[in-house]
Amino acid sequence: MQQHIQVTIVGSSNVDITALMARLPGPGETVLADSYQLSPGGKGANQALAAALAGATTEFIGAVGNDSHAEIALGQLEEAGVKLDRVTRASEPTGVAIIQVDSAAENSIAVVSGANSTVSGEAVQAAGSIEGILVLQGEIPASGIKAAMDAATDRIVLNLAPVIELDREYLLKANPLVVNEHEAEAVLQQLNPNRKMKFENHYERLAGMLVDEGIDSVVITLGANGCLVADRAPLENGGAQVRALPAVKVKAVDTTGAGDAFTGALAARLANGDDLAQAAEFAGKFAALTVQAHGAQASYPRSLQNL
Ligand code: ATP
Repeated sequence: MQQHIQVTIVGSSNVDITALMARLPGPGETVLADSYQLSPGGKGANQALAAALAGATTEFIGAVGNDSHAEIALGQLEEAGVKLDRVTRASEPTGVAIIQVDSAAENSIAVVSGANSTVSGEAVQAAGSIEGILVLQGEIPASGIKAAMDAATDRIVLNLAPVIELDREYLLKANPLVVNEHEAEAVLQQLNPNRKMKFENHYERLAGMLVDEGIDSVVITLGANGCLVADRAPLENGGAQVRALPAVKVKAVDTTGAGDAFTGALAARLANGDDLAQAAEFAGKFAALTVQAHGAQASYPRSLQNL
């Protein structure tokens, strides 16, 4: 039996400042908002919380500022027992996402990277060795992502959201690449600029093509339609095999952070020895619980009883 190994997330942490208002202001306009709240966010921190709540020993490596937002950004992680010893205090402020939401749930978002922009190649190298399964997203500098990959000793879960430019040799280190359908198309174009195709609903082909380009395994998340899991068939032809896993049917009230919940839970199950399809099935159940409650980290299940 495989030993239970650690999940290490190198990534972003933010404070989401969310203001609710009847309608969004136009350029140059001021509107009165009804209320606001501060909540922890950032894809890296969200995924670290999900991995810990899904049962993995988890470490988060990132950066926050020397300000009062830092405590909010890391509070839930601390409570869940995520190791935070290698989170640095930068002279930049803690990253913030300034989110305006109107009564029709339409939003506009401005993200200030702040301290997250200091998670550079140099900073990641200085942090030292990376233990266990490494999880990365696209909200820190590409140099930080590459340095973490260079230091990794186990498989790398790459959630390239947002999609940023990475050299081919680094994209091919993903195992799995976890992306939604739009991100998957953008990654395929990075790998092969000649493949300017629109896949519409034929995402099995897209997943297969990413494997054919040389990525060992790929998970494409499709919201309420579940996900596709693709890897190389064990047969002699070595071509791609793609399996579709349906989502759990639930009444969704807020899907914010569902993708992060999925990625963190997936990494936790891989660390526990599941194969990719088993891990994706668990991650789908975990993410389905989160869409039934409001918020990102606030919606993540604190107990695994319903899974
Ligand atoms: P986000 O950026 O909003 O977090 P994403 O595009 O990265 O989203 P999605 O594909 O929307 O990620 O969702 C990730 C996973 O969460 C899906 O593969 C699915 O398992 C689960 N999920 C999302 N929405 C629903 C839903 N409405 N019902 C059930 N499961 C859902």
